[in-house]
Amino acid sequence: MTRPANVRVRFAPSPTGGPHLGNIRTALFNWLLARGAGGAFMVRIEDTDQARLVHGAVDETLEALRWLGIDWDEGPDVGGRHAPYYQSQRLDRYHAAAGNLMDAGKAYPCYCTPERLQQMRAEQARGKQHVGYDRRCRALTAEERRARQDGAPSVVRFAMPKDGTTSLKDVVRGCVSFENELIDDFVLLKSDGFPTYHLANVVDDHDMEISHVLRAEEWLPSAPRHLRLYEAFGWTPPVFAHLPIILAPDRSKLSKRHGAATVTEYREMGYLPQAMTNFLALLGWSLDDRTEEFSADELIKAFSLERVSRSPAVFDSDKLVWLNGHYIRRLTHRDLAEALLDFWRRYPPAEFPPPRDLDLMTRIAPLVRERLKTLRDAAPLVQFLFKKVDYDPSVLVQKRMDEAGALDALKQARAVLGALPSHDAASIEGALRPLAGKLGLKAGQLLGVLRVAATGLKVAPPLFETMEVLGRDRTLAAIDDALDKLSAYSAITPG
Ligand code: GLU
Repeated sequence: MTRPANVRVRFAPSPTGGPHLGNIRTALFNWLLARGAGGAFMVRIEDTDQARLVHGAVDETLEALRWLGIDWDEGPDVGGRHAPYYQSQRLDRYHAAAGNLMDAGKAYPCYCTPERLQQMRAEQARGKQHVGYDRRCRALTAEERRARQDGAPSVVRFAMPKDGTTSLKDVVRGCVSFENELIDDFVLLKSDGFPTYHLANVVDDHDMEISHVLRAEEWLPSAPRHLRLYEAFGWTPPVFAHLPIILAPDRSKLSKRHGAATVTEYREMGYLPQAMTNFLALLGWSLDDRTEEFSADELIKAFSLERVSRSPAVFDSDKLVWLNGHYIRRLTHRDLAEALLDFWRRYPPAEFPPPRDLDLMTRIAPLVRERLKTLRDAAPLVQFLFKKVDYDPSVLVQKRMDEAGALDALKQARAVLGALPSHDAASIEGALRPLAGKLGLKAGQLLGVLRVAATGLKVAPPLFETMEVLGRDRTLAAIDDALDKLSAYSAITPG
């Protein structure tokens, strides 16, 4: 594996939406390349499309990166020698760059109105011609331009070569050629004074000394424009690597209907950052087509552009669920307890107010973790620790039992447990199993009654250990409560 030298890469989100999986996958690949090569990773906010800005999108994206442990050497919050890292704060630079191109005759002002452009496109479509700007303003003489200067607001367009091809050597896709005649004289500066993505992206990548551009394949059509811009400026372009698109399992474009769309939503569903990072890394990269588990450190060591695939990555939510369970089971009890408390602080559960008792959670964590696919699965299972769970007394009565039998079982169990010298799981088990036999019950029946009594739940963590965690007092109080409930209930039920 060759490690490129002097790597400087960037993640350049446009704050037009949340941190979608595809975008964060791009961020991760850039970060892995930088960290593996001892290079620099930066975040640059491409906020030049003022009409599409979404409030809060930058914060949400940065928070998603932080959550995944993707740290940046330059960018928002941390600054850096190429600050500012918001394109909206770099407008002068783009104007100067566009001015240079105009002076050199490589760009020109365009005075065409939106109405004219619309009409032009409609005619082209009707005539089954290539739809694109017809370069009318490119032909204007200097004098004609001067005459228009105080007229309608103009945009600045790039003068694309009219024929020939532009070839890109892409690390992932190999050599890709584009016919120049099919590429418009695209806009560099818009009528609102903001640059287009193309101009700002190229100017910044050059100014910020970006060595490699790793971005999603959907940006491939922009590459010939960018290469021509680099050429017009007289700059050396970076290395390009276009990352494969991500498809849904049915090979359609991944969308909301295939599950959540943003990393934030996965966080809220209870996925661990370790699982998410591992999962995202496998969307278009593999070490050997076999190994599925990678910690962030292992990814940094193993990642290389040579192993980025050209064919689409397929989003497999079962794999994410599997990875998440896997990482949950690898956490220490205390780390899982902490992860749960943090999770509930951020996303308070419906069942109880967010608890803080780390010791209590550390004791219950091993009892529930086998059953957790996500952190969200925990609250229903452990709610009895943090509140009195209300239940219908009839639930105490197990199959092939009547109320009198259940009452008796509760009374006897209370007596046995109350007399135990030590309230640990082994002693509890040692006392309750023989009791079932004495009462002529199956162990499952007795434990079923007690499970409901102790937790208010039919499905709960293993009973003996749960009773130990609850402690003697709470266990006995819960059984007393069940006795009261069931006596009151049998008093009003006929028969
Ligand atoms: N602002 C673009 C985006 O939102 C960046 C594309 C690029 O990396 O060139 O993805």
